[in-house]
Amino acid sequence: MPQNNGQVPTKPYNRANATDSKRLESFPQKPAVEERVPDLLVNSGDCSICFSSRLNDKLPEVICKNKVCENCYHVECLYEWLMSVNARRFFSDVVGLCPNCEKNITCPIPK
Ligand SMILES: [Zn+2]
Ligand SMILES: [Zn+2]
Repeated sequence: MPQNNGQVPTKPYNRANATDSKRLESFPQKPAVEERVPDLLVNSGDCSICFSSRLNDKLPEVICKNKVCENCYHVECLYEWLMSVNARRFFSDVVGLCPNCEKNITCPIPK
C-alpha cells in the first residue's frame, strides 16, 4: 500500500493518466512545455546542430529563411558550424550555408 501521507507528487500528467485518460484524448494537441516559446520561433523545434532546445539556457534563435527548411539553430552552434565550413564575415555577422538545406544563412557572431 502506497504511503502518501498526504504528499501526493504533483505531476499533472500523472494525475490525468491515472484517472481520466479518455478526457486526455479530447484535449487539443498542444504540449504544455511550449507555452513560453517566444513568437519568433515558428519552428518549435530543437537546434538542428546540437539537437537540444536549450544551450546555456538559451533557445535556438536563428531560423533558416528557406521556407522548405526553417530549421532553427543556436547562435553559438550555427556560428561554429559556419566557421568550420569557411563562412564569410560581414561586420557582426557571418554568412554561410545552412547545414540542412545549404542555402545562405546569416548568423550573428556570438559575444
Ligand atoms: Zn544548438
Ligand atoms: Zn536551411
